[in-house]
Amino acid sequence: MKKGFLMVVSGPSGVGKGTICDILLRDNKDIKYSISATSRNKRPNEEHGKNYFFVSNDEFEKMIADEKLLEYARVHGNYYGTPKDFVLNSIDNGDVVILEIDVQGALQVKKNYPDAVLVFVLPPDFEELKRRLVERGTEDEETINLRMNNAKKEVEFLNEYNYSIVNDFIDESVDKMKAIIEAERLKIKK
Ligand code: 5GP
Repeated sequence: MKKGFLMVVSGPSGVGKGTICDILLRDNKDIKYSISATSRNKRPNEEHGKNYFFVSNDEFEKMIADEKLLEYARVHGNYYGTPKDFVLNSIDNGDVVILEIDVQGALQVKKNYPDAVLVFVLPPDFEELKRRLVERGTEDEETINLRMNNAKKEVEFLNEYNYSIVNDFIDESVDKMKAIIEAERLKIKK
């Protein structure tokens, strides 16, 4: 049986990591996406149970207390966390599970699951990142500025990751991600 593993994908808001993951998942049945829980408000284009499990602050804190989360963090003022059972069952099943999570969460995963593979997606440059965030049109100016500041802080943690991908062209980034998965599947784990 193929060996399942955890793959953490981080990168600044708006960098395109969601699009890369969507394409990967569409083409590969043995790659699963971990749907996070969050206390942030749902955007108009989002669905509960598809993009996130949208919960209240209290519900999120109960999940923490009940140890239902593999990791969690406060990002841009809201709670975000990874439900544990789905991830661990999928790995046992031989699947690759993608966690699209922030740097704080990635560091927790790295500490608790040393075999996890950490990938950081970078923008070609920060002006381009801002342009993409503005173009997406889902955040107001204040939120965009907060996310731009966080992006600069996140990049400082690049050295904690195993791989980096500069997302210039989506198709190339998807191919790079596939190459990483293939190599990791073949790796002899010590
Ligand atoms: P957004 O609000 O744009 O959907 O996500 C904001 C940030 O939260 C992104 O950087 C994303 O990677 C991060 N994030 C999403 N889900 C999780 C999670 O389950 N855990 C952690 N630690 N971060 C998450």
